[in-house]
Amino acid sequence: MVANRLVELGLKSGDILYLRCGLGRIGIPRTQIEEIFLGGIREVLGSEGTLITPAFVPISFRWSKNLAISSESTKPVTGLFASLLLEQSGAVRSNHPTHSFAGLGKNAKSILAGHSEHGACFEPMRAVVDADGLMMLVGCVADSPGFSTVHLAQYDLGLSQRHYAKWLLAVRKGSENGEVFHPIESPGCSNGFGKFYRDYIDDGNFSCGYVGNAWSIAVRAAKAYEREYRILSTNPLYPLCDQADCFSCRITRGYNKRAVPGALISKATRLVTKAFR
Ligand SMILES: [Zn+2]
Repeated sequence: MVANRLVELGLKSGDILYLRCGLGRIGIPRTQIEEIFLGGIREVLGSEGTLITPAFVPISFRWSKNLAISSESTKPVTGLFASLLLEQSGAVRSNHPTHSFAGLGKNAKSILAGHSEHGACFEPMRAVVDADGLMMLVGCVADSPGFSTVHLAQYDLGLSQRHYAKWLLAVRKGSENGEVFHPIESPGCSNGFGKFYRDYIDDGNFSCGYVGNAWSIAVRAAKAYEREYRILSTNPLYPLCDQADCFSCRITRGYNKRAVPGALISKATRLVTKAFR
């Protein structure tokens, strides 16, 4: 039973659940995902609960001839679950041009209402933190690691505003004739966010188990954000990934300029090696 597994991971009736998932890992036939998986979530959350998931859209480089168009109906790039959620009666979607979120349930509308182009890409996570909601990863613990409160903490500390990838990206709002949106920040690479797993465990804020065949973990948002913010305030480089030439972590971060020469050499070496292979 999906509902029982979710309860074992800490989900309660009336909770705010922030969920990211790899549906393919759960092992439920595609045609039954809505009934068995989403149905199990709704069963536990009940009428007082709320479900939130990212529903981000494609982003272009600023110099692209045909910029990606961002509208309410743009298909999310964050997986099938966001699309499935948006198909549900009563589902809502925030109108941030690049990092929209989808929600369903009692507080979804109020959580997503103020998520605009003028605020943080991950601003809805603040409501999840304030309500001490549950953040859960189902089937993407290792390949899409970590929790989105890290991005919020990076914004609150002014770090993602100093991630200069923001100058490279843009989308067009609404239609091909719409206004061009330039992000005020760039959350960037999250491949190193799994480094916080040990800190959640250290805080006793970590549960794990299987949902179907999918290895899954969950943490409470308030304690997670508090720990992430504290670590990042003294060590902003803590959650960067281990890839020596990661463009996002080692070339475009204004607070990690010392890594740029090494990353460029590493990238050049890799390209030359590839060319002569
Ligand atoms: Zn990286």
